Amino acid sequence: MAPSVAIIGAGFGGLCMAIRLERAGIRSYTIFEKADDLGGTWRDNSYPGAGCDIPSHLYSYSFEKYASWTRRYPDQPEILGYLEHCADKYDVRRKIRFRSEVRSAAFDGRQWRITATGPDGGEHTEAFDVMVVSIGQLNRPHLPDIPGMSDFTGVSFHSARWNHDHDLTGRQVAVIGTGSSAAQLIPPVAERAERLHVFQRTPNWVIPKPDATFGPLTKLALHYVPGLQRAYREWIYRYAEATLYPALAHGWSTGLLKKRALGHLYDQVPDPALRAKLTPDYPPGCKRVVIDSRFYPALTRDNVDVITDKIVRIAPRGVETTEGLREVDTIVYATGFKSTEFLTPMEITGRSGRSLRERWANGAEAYLGISVPEFPNMFLLYGPNTNLGHNSIIFMLECQVGHIMACLPRLTEQGPIEVRPEAMAAWTRQLDAAMERMVWGGGCQSWYKTAEGRVTNNWPGPTTLYRRLTGKAPGGAYRLSPAR
Ligand code: NAP
Repeated sequence: MAPSVAIIGAGFGGLCMAIRLERAGIRSYTIFEKADDLGGTWRDNSYPGAGCDIPSHLYSYSFEKYASWTRRYPDQPEILGYLEHCADKYDVRRKIRFRSEVRSAAFDGRQWRITATGPDGGEHTEAFDVMVVSIGQLNRPHLPDIPGMSDFTGVSFHSARWNHDHDLTGRQVAVIGTGSSAAQLIPPVAERAERLHVFQRTPNWVIPKPDATFGPLTKLALHYVPGLQRAYREWIYRYAEATLYPALAHGWSTGLLKKRALGHLYDQVPDPALRAKLTPDYPPGCKRVVIDSRFYPALTRDNVDVITDKIVRIAPRGVETTEGLREVDTIVYATGFKSTEFLTPMEITGRSGRSLRERWANGAEAYLGISVPEFPNMFLLYGPNTNLGHNSIIFMLECQVGHIMACLPRLTEQGPIEVRPEAMAAWTRQLDAAMERMVWGGGCQSWYKTAEGRVTNNWPGPTTLYRRLTGKAPGGAYRLSPAR
């Protein structure tokens, strides 16, 4: 009999899992989604200018060719449209339980007992054989801890909770943060606001995004010429793997990446004082490289100031730095996400009664980023050490879903399975060794690592290796879960 599967999250990962189950003829699954719509990060991040810096034809499922991409790099509405198209085409929407937030899950020796809120606000518990958690790494906004934030009398919000009712035309706006989200939203905000104050704590390395709309002929060719879209996708993937990955691993292209970024800065920012403010002093790639061609020009506008003085507090009428008060009526916190607190605030308890939070007290870890010892029949999508700084996360998700599908027959035939502690330990040793080669370790703070400096988010190898490792039969790394 097919196992019952609970999928938590209806973003790229959860939908991919559901589609693969459908295609395998397994209909005994339910998708829990806390919001009232699908799309995950692409539903939440609707700020002006939101989009992806991975090309459209790669930032999509390998099994779902799409004729509607209008441009080389997709914007947020297009990606959401793509996900809706997939959910409808593969008929998985009917399985999504919207406004149902999973609060806790506990393994009872045989099944996962999952407690979730329902649309009525009450809590309900249901048992499933398998639990696939796909809630992303960047789903919980991080608001900074700056004194006085609650005293602000204007309007403030996080970039991932954009206030679309608040018209920025003619406003005095502060944007705090200059990461990828800020880089995308600053250009459209600068066009509308009367004055924009950009508060930068650390500059980022920025390289151009060669975006363009597809002409009608290109669109037709990509859709109808046999093999063309696949070849184009493969080319983008190989190119990123061959050029960007080595730059993050102190390889042959490290110098080139720096040269490219500095060249971009010189081309777009003529003022040497502003250029100096925008020049990072840490190795490129240590923080996520920003890929954007509109960011620097926006910072050179007459109505935009880049402020690098330390913020001391939020005052009722503005942002106060060591150099004085900048009066504003709107503050946008483009301050990132609680990225290292994997799976929180869900309370997940394994077969031994220990919670995942306790197990991960020193930083999250999972075998292949997917499985955790003592947590039988639980699988993670976009789990610890599976984020990329150089290629498409959708590729990684498909590898993970493939691995889970390969595990299903065994747990169905034999009972709950879990990853062996030895396999987990060996995995961690290999990760640690590989991490030594990467640029993320020293020299910068980033959302890739814990406060103690452990890189818990990124995959430190080529994605081809990850595909090979997740593509192997699960075999000896797993064992039958010991009875309680
Ligand atoms: P982020 O990269 O974590 O950037 C947060 C920004 O807020 C940083 O500039 C940070 O400064 C600043 N900040 C945080 N706390 C602060 C404080 N207390 N005072 C002053 N500044 C503070 O977050 P994000 O821009 O939302 O991007 C997160 C990730 O989402 C990206 O790295 C990327 O992977 C993904 N993303 C992707 C795309 C895409 O095109 N694919 C687009 C948007 C986002 P410090 O650097 O000094 O910490």
